[in-house]
Amino acid sequence: MNKEKRRAGILDGARVAEAIKREVAGEAAAFRDKHGIAPCLVAVRVGNDPASAVYVHNKVRTSEMLGLRSEHHELPAETTTEELLAEVERLNARDDVDGILVQLPLPRGIAEANVLEAIDPAKDVDGFHPLNVGRLALGRSGFAPCTPAGIIELLTREGIGLRGQHACIVGRSHIVGRPLAQLLLQHDATVTICHSRTQELAMLTRQADILIAAVGRVGLIRAAHVKPGATVIDVGMNKITNAEMARDFFGGNSASRVEAIEKRGFTLVGDVHPAEVVQVARYLTPVPGGVGPLTVAMLMRNTLTAAQQRRRGVS
Ligand code: NAP
Repeated sequence: MNKEKRRAGILDGARVAEAIKREVAGEAAAFRDKHGIAPCLVAVRVGNDPASAVYVHNKVRTSEMLGLRSEHHELPAETTTEELLAEVERLNARDDVDGILVQLPLPRGIAEANVLEAIDPAKDVDGFHPLNVGRLALGRSGFAPCTPAGIIELLTREGIGLRGQHACIVGRSHIVGRPLAQLLLQHDATVTICHSRTQELAMLTRQADILIAAVGRVGLIRAAHVKPGATVIDVGMNKITNAEMARDFFGGNSASRVEAIEKRGFTLVGDVHPAEVVQVARYLTPVPGGVGPLTVAMLMRNTLTAAQQRRRGVS
């Protein structure tokens, strides 16, 4: 019997994201040559949530690096739903704006659904407008949310077949789990969706050829949840502040994590316990450097697509 320990291959989301961004930069240059103007993304942020500030900064900086135009509209925490709706209307009316993203979560008191519904579906690069959600559910073309779209790109570009495979998603949010289920169905996977009320979670996840964890619970998915040889995609993005926990999570690779905790007080971990799952799975995405960079890359792709379609008159 082969006693050699199996270790999953790491799916390098950051490398795939770089490839997508290079393609977007090339097409954006061609777009500028043809139309004399660069595709433009406007990010609207309300309030002072520090994590949102970092995310928006990242998106704006990436846009600029790829030759897109970008604006960051910062509104005070006291902004009312009506004021935010007026801002969205102004951006809808501007012909030079191709993509609008309203960074979530919005402060309590703002009617999030009304705001997302007010965005022109042709500029809805996050894919959260009900029209784009409906189109996705019908298998028609429209903007798919960036995180699920990035996961499909990763699997496809890494040659991990989806047709006939059993994909199990843990998490049913509107941002990740549900749209990902639609995309996987479009790729002929057989899809199971689990959530907080699911019974016998491990029994279900252990049947999956492709297991996607989008929960927001530190290390929920352990070796016992994973079918040997499965592909595991870790969407979770959680902070841990405890060095002992980091050692348990990262085993022999924990030194840099413990150092990060000592220096800045935390390190980022996913919903998957990496030291355990790496012994069972065939492939695993790292956190950070897995799904996160793909999300930003797909936002750039959606912005470019919005600009191309608007110039062609596609709605
Ligand atoms: P969310 O809206 O909070 O949804 C979490 C989902 O997990 C819900 O469907 C919930 O079930 C389910 N859940 C909670 N506890 C569970 C448990 N013990 N067993 C099974 N299911 C459970 O979260 P989200 O926005 O989808 O984000 C999920 C994670 O992904 C977070 O860590 C977030 O930071 C991360 N994320 C990362 C990216 C990226 O670009 N890397 C993008 C988006 C999100 P119910 O529906 O029953 O409540």
